[in-house]
Amino acid sequence: MAVDSAISSPLGPPACKKDAKALQFIEEMTRNADAVQERILAEILSRNAETEYLNRFKLNGATDRKTFKSHIPMVTYEDLQPEIKRIANGDRSPILSAHPISEFLTSSGTSAGERKLMPTIQEELDRRQLLYSLLMPVMNLYVPGLDKGKGLYFLFVKSETRTPGGLLARPVLTSYYKSEHFKTRPYDPYNVYTSPDEAILCADSFQSMYTQMLCGLLERKQVLRLGAVFASGLLRAIRFLQLNWTQLAHDIRTGTLSPKITDPAIKDRMVPILKPDPQLADFITRKCSEDNWEGILTKIWPNTKYLDVIVTGAMAQYIPTLDYYSGGLPLACTMYASSECYFGLNLNPMSKPSEVSYTIMPNMAYFEFLPHEPNANRFSSRDLPLKLVDLVDVEVGKEYELVITTYAGLYRYRVGDILRVTGFHNSAPQFHFVRRKNVLLSIDSDKTDEAELQKAMENASQLLKEFNTSVVEYTSYADTKTIPGHYVIYWELLVKDPDNSPSEEVLNQCCLEMEQSLNSVYRQGRVADNSIGPLEIRVVKNGTFEELMDYAISRGASINQYKVPRCVNFTPIMELLDSRVVSSHFSPSLPHWTPERRR
Ligand code: AMP
Repeated sequence: MAVDSAISSPLGPPACKKDAKALQFIEEMTRNADAVQERILAEILSRNAETEYLNRFKLNGATDRKTFKSHIPMVTYEDLQPEIKRIANGDRSPILSAHPISEFLTSSGTSAGERKLMPTIQEELDRRQLLYSLLMPVMNLYVPGLDKGKGLYFLFVKSETRTPGGLLARPVLTSYYKSEHFKTRPYDPYNVYTSPDEAILCADSFQSMYTQMLCGLLERKQVLRLGAVFASGLLRAIRFLQLNWTQLAHDIRTGTLSPKITDPAIKDRMVPILKPDPQLADFITRKCSEDNWEGILTKIWPNTKYLDVIVTGAMAQYIPTLDYYSGGLPLACTMYASSECYFGLNLNPMSKPSEVSYTIMPNMAYFEFLPHEPNANRFSSRDLPLKLVDLVDVEVGKEYELVITTYAGLYRYRVGDILRVTGFHNSAPQFHFVRRKNVLLSIDSDKTDEAELQKAMENASQLLKEFNTSVVEYTSYADTKTIPGHYVIYWELLVKDPDNSPSEEVLNQCCLEMEQSLNSVYRQGRVADNSIGPLEIRVVKNGTFEELMDYAISRGASINQYKVPRCVNFTPIMELLDSRVVSSHFSPSLPHWTPERRR
């Protein structure tokens, strides 16, 4: 029920008083976007005035935009490596931030094969929580009655390590779920999860997923929304149900917990929740034993109003599969965030995935935008020839790379995301997420670029040397038809000595060798998260890549400028490649991965 008009919002009638305050906050921030940005920059610069980094650029205490822009260079992670290394090694002096670095957040972006380490400070948790607190008030504008049931969200913590200097290094969501902000959050009828915190906080991904699924099944009629952070995570949960429904149904029938669940906190928590329910067990058995799982989500959770998962950017590849399993339920993308900083939210969360725009909240950090032009890479990141545009000055229709200055001590830092302006809410721009720069392949949170793929190829093809065989051409494809998805690499081989050609086993080993060479986020997905399937090499007939070139030229590519695409996803090209496959090979085992960094 809407509250009275005295606290109504231009965004729509709020569902309750708390929502009214949140919507009013969004209005205030977006109406005064420029003033808020100016204040945020001044705050960041004045509190960090004595940091080594700002002193190096002779800011001399200035906090205005003009001085800031003329003195401080735009940087990438690589530029900050020396500072980050010192902090990781235990230097507690104010290098980047006047506030102590509380931990490192491990980004899914990598540098030299390892996750990037993003410094953060304690109070950033408040900022993240603030953004989270805005999501349901916006959703309640579009979907009424969410206080009448629960959300089945598959949320996970991942492994953490310590840097040589003793700081924790872990993903941002692990940090958030383990924080008091999350664990002692006040009860909110609009935001109740079926998953007990004990399950979310269990580091063993099987036990965590099992318990979350079990609780979701037990409360299937209460579930009003289903979600995970990314689309790939929700599909992984569906796959988990396919593999484990027999045991889950058994637990529900008998009211006992599978012996595979050994975590004491989960076991204690499940005692009062799990009671024998043969009727529910029969229902689950009936539905899950059907061959056709089309629309399974709505069969099991019939009151689901929408799926809450990010399907923008690389995750768009999962939309057809999610539609299949959900019978076309609306897909809501609610927020846009990163380890470096949480950026903003979608003020129209029920919009079609292709039309999703995120409104950057001006209070989260100081935002600048690098006009994205194909030749922009001519300039090194320490130079300043390209003019960065302020948040309120971006132009509709144009593309920009996001550059941020944060409270935690990143100054004019290139995030690597390309965004297109679609419009404004008050004076705050709204952005379509176009893509992340330099990402060729992605299944889950892994991001593999061309150089990494090339290196992996070179390492794997070493194994072919003794067979006098080389890879003449290759390309790749993120196959998301399987769950989990997996990388497919197409190889055209030159076998010089057919009597001694590489065996099936050698080619399988090539798959594993490629995986060993890929970055740690990929290998973690394979080993710990089970979110990526074994890499596949498909060997194609000789001459296939020439046909590929002929095809591209027939479609207007210039013969002089033609380059083999290192990643493909255009259906006719896939069909051409797949029709020429002579053999396919899979990685026979898991690549090496431990939470520890290699260097
Ligand atoms: P991480 O650094 O691992 O925290 O990942 C953050 C990155 O994930 C962002 O910089 C984006 O590239 C991507 N990302 C986060 N939220 C979204 C979203 N809503 N849509 C598309 N991509 C996103």
